Amino acid sequence: MRFDIISVLPGLLESPFAHSILQRAQKKGVAEIVVHNLRDYSTAKQKSVDDYPYGGGSGMVMTIQPFADCIEKLKSEREYDEIIFMSPDGETLNQGIANQLSIKQNIIILCGHYKGIDQRIRDIYVTREISIGDYVLSGGELPAAVLVDAVVRLIPGVLSDETSALSDSFQDDMLDAPVYTRPADWNGHKVPDILLSGNTPEVEKWRFEQALERTKQRRPDLLE
Ligand code: SAH
Repeated sequence: MRFDIISVLPGLLESPFAHSILQRAQKKGVAEIVVHNLRDYSTAKQKSVDDYPYGGGSGMVMTIQPFADCIEKLKSEREYDEIIFMSPDGETLNQGIANQLSIKQNIIILCGHYKGIDQRIRDIYVTREISIGDYVLSGGELPAAVLVDAVVRLIPGVLSDETSALSDSFQDDMLDAPVYTRPADWNGHKVPDILLSGNTPEVEKWRFEQALERTKQRRPDLLE
């Protein structure tokens, strides 16, 4: 799977992809993540990528030309399944969206800044708009990193234990059960006996009950 991320601050995306599972996925060749510096595509004086908003008002707006040229270049090289704009007014990211995207081949992600991007870029190119939650960040880079992480860890072969993503919260509309590791007794705080029993069916049953109880308590909406 390949992601092309278009950003005016590519440095913001270096660290999230250079560690842990996202780094491993790239080394294994399962995921390719390419960050493009929007400014490299600007034909404007001083490589600017923004301008004053028509109609006045505060804040700058990202211009069409650099995005259009970068997207057109990428589209001439391969076919894309989705061109996603990270935006607080998009559909809110959830596990279902991550699952859907994890079976795609090529995805472009646009990162906005300032007041956002010229609406015509959205009208002409964007196939999907995704928000990471009801709050406003200063740029689309962190949201893009969140989206890529949520998607890439679902690609088969990325997580070392293949079943591990399936038992995570939100798969099957349930939260995950509590987890414990050694020692079995920490200053009198003990691990539930059932987990030490070696009785796998009973452990599974306990985990299911715990997950259900936790979901009822914390996220009853998931069970509706
Ligand atoms: N004026 C815009 C916010 C612009 S914030 C509005 O009110 O909707 C600048 C950029 O940060 C956005 O274009 C978007 O790419 C990114 N961004 C900010 N918050 C985000 C969120 N919750 N989810 C996804 N992207 C976000």
